[in-house]
Amino acid sequence: MGARSKIEWTDSTFNPWVGCTKVKRRKSPSACDYCYAEKWAKRSGQVEWGDHPRRRTTEAYWRNPVTWNGQAPSFQINNERRQRVFCASLADVFDNQVDPEWRSDLFNLIRACDQLDWQLLTKRPQNIRKMLPPDWGDGYPNVWFGTTAEDADAYRQRVPHLLKVPAAIHFVSYEPAIGPLGQLDIDGLYPDWLIIGGESGVRSDLIRLTDPQWVRDAIAECRRLGAAPFLKQWGTYKNNPNVVEQGCSEKQAMKIDPPENGKGGGKLDGQFWREFPTNAMLTLATAAKGRRAENGSERRTLYVGRTRAARRESWPLGEG
Ligand code: SF4
Repeated sequence: MGARSKIEWTDSTFNPWVGCTKVKRRKSPSACDYCYAEKWAKRSGQVEWGDHPRRRTTEAYWRNPVTWNGQAPSFQINNERRQRVFCASLADVFDNQVDPEWRSDLFNLIRACDQLDWQLLTKRPQNIRKMLPPDWGDGYPNVWFGTTAEDADAYRQRVPHLLKVPAAIHFVSYEPAIGPLGQLDIDGLYPDWLIIGGESGVRSDLIRLTDPQWVRDAIAECRRLGAAPFLKQWGTYKNNPNVVEQGCSEKQAMKIDPPENGKGGGKLDGQFWREFPTNAMLTLATAAKGRRAENGSERRTLYVGRTRAARRESWPLGEG
């Protein structure tokens, strides 16, 4: 966990603490069922998963984001954008079993490291609002909030909680995609960014499959609404569209869409779908006037305006 992440949609990971409890769903399989962080914890012996104390990471480790923040000018020159930090890959920031003081320390760090874009992904979006720092206001301009939705039921249950909290960017991780997602807009609101991925790192007899058509439909929904799709990986060649739809063997699919494109390959209909929300935000900004007149989506328009203003002021090298 650290300075260079292998996760395609971020640059670095930071874990303020490690340990978590699985989020179960009544009668449905859950994204947490084969949690990779739990496997890491078992291998490393660092922490016991579930209803056990979380372990805070060291003071020295907590200084890493401060270092990255200090190096931001050179990162931005080399990459022509800001550095993204995924927080947390081995825990959940909005976990009820975490000492509130730890979370307060984390938000102080996030506020201080304002040259980094912090991507906070949770499976507990219902907790976000009550766990925000007192000065959250309309959201820190450098914080993106996301939640996981593995299928349409999870999407309709979790995403409204996410979208009700003010944030510069709202995103949804549709990974592992284990069912179709359906419509992305709920009461006129929708996320700015959709990360899509099939399940990986699971024994082949346990793996839950992703139908490429669900992914195609989710991307079409992004296009309809102006959100940015990011297809990360198929997870396994059993999901790869060359196998599922074209009748190729897994070996043949591997040649057409090699593992360097993502686990199980990463292309759909012969191309990558890897967009980031800042691009979509510009599209939305262009369309905002029309939408406001059309459906009265004032709140959405305000966020677009605020984000663009923030970028103009302090993000001279942002993607937009
Ligand atoms: S919320 Fe994330 S870290 Fe926690 S158990 Fe579920 S998958 Fe693992």
